[in-house]
Amino acid sequence: MTIALSLIAVLVAIAVIIIGAVVGAGGGGANAGPEASAEESTTPRPAPTAPPEPAVVDTFDKSAHSLDDPASIWVVVNQVRALNPEDYVPDDLVEVPVAHTWVPELRQEASDAVVAMFAAAADEADYYLASNSAFRSYDTQVELYGDGDDPTTAPPGHSEHQTGLAMDIGTEGGCTFECMDDSAEGEWLRANGYRFGFILRYPADKVEITGYPHESWHFRYVGVELATEMHDRGITTLEEFFDVPGGAAQ
Ligand SMILES: [Zn+2]
Repeated sequence: MTIALSLIAVLVAIAVIIIGAVVGAGGGGANAGPEASAEESTTPRPAPTAPPEPAVVDTFDKSAHSLDDPASIWVVVNQVRALNPEDYVPDDLVEVPVAHTWVPELRQEASDAVVAMFAAAADEADYYLASNSAFRSYDTQVELYGDGDDPTTAPPGHSEHQTGLAMDIGTEGGCTFECMDDSAEGEWLRANGYRFGFILRYPADKVEITGYPHESWHFRYVGVELATEMHDRGITTLEEFFDVPGGAAQ
């Protein structure tokens, strides 16, 4: 009898412990609930999400500007695509009001873009850019080309500089050509040029396609629309984007 009573007492004790544990856990859970909702109520609700973007459809019009007209901002000039006429001179050249070694001239639209880009480099990054070469006439290119010993100098009638849309950009500190490869200013231009309508025209990995060695200083104005499209699609040469011939002349 005593044993039976003891056993009952033990069982009751165990039951009390178990019930206590369950109630305790339940109480804890009940307490956690209000705490969590209190947190929720003090946390700003996320803004309603925007409706899903429509499926991306490439609506870019590759025929919006001529690739052949020398006065087109999309004209593709390279070693196998000459300007026509070869002695073309743009009719809206202006002096570009930026720091320079040689007084730069570009077409009005490209000049405005250079001014905006140089100002942004100064404002956003404290980089001070300068022009080393911009428009060059057919006759100037004849002189520069000479015997054609310099692979970075285009034959007359084949130079982007003759379009009034290209500029060799360095720094006010005196970095001119190859030093732009590794300069912070060169990096900024490569990353941001498209915002102002410029592309690095002769990338290091596209020598076979452009026909020119890497020129970390040579930027070509093509307009913000095309430069942004190329940037967004990761296409770095006009030859690839428009599927036109390039490479070295033979
Ligand atoms: Zn150049």
